Amino acid sequence: MTTKQPARTRTRVVGAVVGLGVVAAVIAAAVVIVPLLRPPGPRPAFQLPVPCGETWQLGTYPGHDDFDVDLFPTVGQAWGRPVLASYAGAVTAAGVNGSVGGRTPEDPDGPRGRGGGYWVEIDHGGRWETQYLHLLEPPMVRKGQRVEQGDQLGKVGSTGNSGAPHLHYEQRRGREKVETYFDGSPSGITHDDAEYTVTRKSNNCPPA
Ligand SMILES: [Zn+2]
Repeated sequence: MTTKQPARTRTRVVGAVVGLGVVAAVIAAAVVIVPLLRPPGPRPAFQLPVPCGETWQLGTYPGHDDFDVDLFPTVGQAWGRPVLASYAGAVTAAGVNGSVGGRTPEDPDGPRGRGGGYWVEIDHGGRWETQYLHLLEPPMVRKGQRVEQGDQLGKVGSTGNSGAPHLHYEQRRGREKVETYFDGSPSGITHDDAEYTVTRKSNNCPPA
């Protein structure tokens, strides 16, 4: 007696397995792609990523990148100043972007790193994100952590591809960089064709 299955049964089994595989692949693709097709939600009420009441210079320069903002304090040193979450969200990256390099308060002209150096990215929901680059030390938050507006993410530094201690900051909608808004009003930094600076006072204040 043979245990060999009739050819038709084997074909049916193989067909069912392939069919399940196709269904699984379609579901997996949908899980990844559908959120990317969803229209972005309304702009969160972003605040400057620095402490309440401080005035900072926001600027850009040719070759920076459209919408990118570099922040320098108008009073005191930049090194070590607190970098705060612009808005509540979930940390999606906290670590090294590119390489750290060797620029520190003790050796400000040390070897330049690559990319963003120590950095943090936050997902605010509704497909809005913020990024904080060139931090002095490893971020004070970890990937997956929930943060509230005003929570400290790290300290201002000059890691990565940075000329001097400052905070490089971006707001993104659906992965695309957009003009930064703070406290409900636009920064005016929309392109990197020319050097441009503006000063703003932080209203990233603890809840009353
Ligand atoms: Zn920058």
